[in-house]
Order: sequence, then structure tokens, then C-alpha cells
Amino acid sequence: MTTANPIRRPLIAGNWKMNLDLKASVELVRALTLAVPRGFQGEVMVAPPFTALTVVGEALRDSPIRLGAQDLFWEEKGAFTGEISASQLKDAGCWSVLIGHSERRRIFADTDAWVRRKLEAALKAGLIPVVCVGETLEERESQRTWRVLETQLKGGLEGFAPSALAPLVVAYEPVWAIGTGKTATPAQAQEAHLFIRKQAAALYGPAFASGLRILYGGSVTPENIDSLMAEPDIDGALVGGASLKADSFSRIVGFRSPAAR
Ligand code: PEP
Repeated sequence: MTTANPIRRPLIAGNWKMNLDLKASVELVRALTLAVPRGFQGEVMVAPPFTALTVVGEALRDSPIRLGAQDLFWEEKGAFTGEISASQLKDAGCWSVLIGHSERRRIFADTDAWVRRKLEAALKAGLIPVVCVGETLEERESQRTWRVLETQLKGGLEGFAPSALAPLVVAYEPVWAIGTGKTATPAQAQEAHLFIRKQAAALYGPAFASGLRILYGGSVTPENIDSLMAEPDIDGALVGGASLKADSFSRIVGFRSPAAR
């Protein structure tokens, strides 16, 4: 389980959060389309704010870069002011959706039960779900990292048919590393990714676990991406701040892969 699995195509995803107006969004993806290295064997995605999905999707029309959303609501339609459904995201051209980002959990009180419902809705609509998990600094310092990850994974992922869950991507994002400039060391990230893979094996079996893509997120930069991607259980990155500039994000996409990958 510690050898990089060729089935796991690297995925580099940019989470723009609540940044960029429409003009800047289109300029960024146009620049990215030109800058993303030719021959990249993996997948690249950007997740703009909801208001920019259609213009960014339009600008990406002939580009290999995929469109993602930052969140969704599990109901199909109805009186849910301010929310957006999986089918609306599909209709807007989305390929993927982030679920349970730590900012959603911390600021908007998303729970593991909500993550599970959102995951179910995303899968039903044919979106690639990227479920985010990760511990706070306090949890790490009090040796609760593994318990927290186990709770989040079980609470969010339990009870699906393994075949239905096949498109799942998990992002390990230690909260203390998000937007802080403080990255987990490659060894810390690898240890957590291996733990997540073992939890996935316990839930859904070794074949499912060895095919599961696990991204690292938390202050990923052009300077640290190569050493992170050299770890056998790191299959890509979820990038916040550094995804807002074409030069830094394209350098991350063009990470120097170890020969084995
Ligand atoms: C994120 O938003 O998921 C993230 C990892 O942000 P940053 O890269 O800025 O730490």
C-alpha cells in the first residue's frame, strides 16, 4: 500500500475560495490554460466561487482543465435560500465538488453527517467528490490526530456501496497548515495519508483503498510540491493561495514527478 499506484492519476485542484471578480477569474484561467505543462498525465481542476462558474467554464471550453465547485447542498431543489444543488452544479458545467472543507466545518458548522449527505448527492449527480478531512493544531498537539481523522472518515464515508464510492477523492488538509504558510512535512503528510488509506481499507477493502486518490492541502507552493509528491501515498494537491496566480499554480501542476509515478 505504500507504493504509488499508477491507477491513481495525480489531481491538482485549486480552491479559489471567496476571491477574484469575473474579469480576474477569466484572465486567470486563460493564463492557466496556456501555462499548464503539455503532456501532463494527471488532472487539473479549478474551483471558483459559484458566481464565476459559468464564465470560467466557458473560458475552459477547449482546455483540459476541469471545473469544480467549493460546496453544495444535498437537496435537489426547493426552499433552501442561499444554497445550490448538485444538479445545478452539473448544469453549470462542474466536474467535481469540494465537500467538508475545514472552513465550512469551522465557520459554517458543517458536520460529518452533512458531509455524508453532500457526498451522496454529489455521487448521485455524477460529480467527483473531494471530501476534506484534517485536524486542528490543538488536536495534533494533544495526540488526537488519528482519532479525529477516523471520526471524520467514518462519519462522512461509511455506509456506501464501494462501487458507488469509486469516484471519491479524499483531501488531507491539516487545519494548522491552511493559509498559514506552515506546511506539513512530507513525512507528516505521508503518515496521515497512509493512515487514511488504512481507514479506507477497513471501511471498503484493500482494492478500494489502493485505488483511492488522497490529496494533500495546506500551504502547498511551487517550493514544496516536489517533495510532497515524492511520497508514495500523496496523489495530488488541493491548493488555496498559490492557485490564485497562473505562474505558481502551473508550476505546482508541473511538479517534478519521481520516475516511479
Ligand atoms: C485550501 O484552501 O484548501 C488550502 C489548502 O489553502 P492554502 O493552500 O492557502 O493553505
